[in-house]
Amino acid sequence: MTAFDIKSKKPLIISGPCSAETEEQTLETCKQLAASGMVDVLRAGIWKPRTKPGNFEGVGIKGLPWMAKAKEITGLPIAIEVATGKHVHEALEFGVDILWVGARSTVNPFSVQEICDAVRGQDVTILIKNPMNPDVDLWIGAVERFRAVGVEKIGLIHRGFSAIGGKYRNNPMWHLAIEMRRRMPGLPLICDPSHICGRRDTLLEVCQKSADLNYDGLIIESHICPDKAWSDASQQVTPTDLETILKSIKWRNEIVDKPEFLQALDQFRVQIDQLDNELFELLSKRMNIAERIGEVKRDNNVTILQSGRWADIVERIVSQADSLKLSREFMSTILEAIHIESINRQNKIMNKK
Ligand code: PEP
Ligand code: MN
Repeated sequence: MTAFDIKSKKPLIISGPCSAETEEQTLETCKQLAASGMVDVLRAGIWKPRTKPGNFEGVGIKGLPWMAKAKEITGLPIAIEVATGKHVHEALEFGVDILWVGARSTVNPFSVQEICDAVRGQDVTILIKNPMNPDVDLWIGAVERFRAVGVEKIGLIHRGFSAIGGKYRNNPMWHLAIEMRRRMPGLPLICDPSHICGRRDTLLEVCQKSADLNYDGLIIESHICPDKAWSDASQQVTPTDLETILKSIKWRNEIVDKPEFLQALDQFRVQIDQLDNELFELLSKRMNIAERIGEVKRDNNVTILQSGRWADIVERIVSQADSLKLSREFMSTILEAIHIESINRQNKIMNKK
């Protein structure tokens, strides 16, 4: 049997409970999801990596026959998380079609390598979640390890990055997933809104955002009785609610072959490219002046940072937010990046031997 092809459908929808808890809960959830006709792959956690011991750590190997049964009854492929070589062997024995590497494993090259060693030379399908911390190289490293042992069917899952506070349980940092796709072209990118959101009421907006960014699919947690779930209760939805969410998402085309559309797009892109050039030419000029200031400060033995001056600049610029129709947050982010580069340049000048 050849391994499941993640590219066989777009969008690919993976769903199932955070954890397999009992045979009945697993089968009932999977049956309802399959009956919706909107789910392509069934998921469940069998071994759960928990932040603290004492939380539910998964039912373990006894959950594998439940998933195998769900596959048999529904005809749908099944996916589980693996974190050790032993998990891999057991999963493959029970006919698991997709193995995913969790965020807590992707951060650890020892774990990733152990999983790689267990699948070496086998035709398997692997989905790699982004690491907990916002480090694209670590994510790429995991892909490279799997490629090095001959795995070809690899996909990425974007589940957000550890965050303290903020709107989401995990900060999506969309730009990092986009950067990952730029650096690893050709790998399907699947969004995990459940672990990004950590709650139900923001799932749809995150799903829609991923659709707008041309993601290749979704992995969403669903449970027949979410409030009673043994793990991640607040982010799971019933199969019926999942269906409503899935029906509300507008999946868009990456490209449409209409001449008017292509012409309009081209015109705007020429303008954007031109403006980007001008922006960076201006920034280059600004940095040159910052260096000249650095020289003046050096010759007069004055510190780089004069308290008050930078605050005045920020205040003056950000106060124009409304009239420029730019958000204050965006303006502050840009200013901060400019300031860091400016300080670095001045620092170099002032400390040149
Ligand atoms: C999960 O998918 O249930 C899970 C544990 O996810 P993550 O590795 O993204 O935290
Ligand atoms: Mn979960």
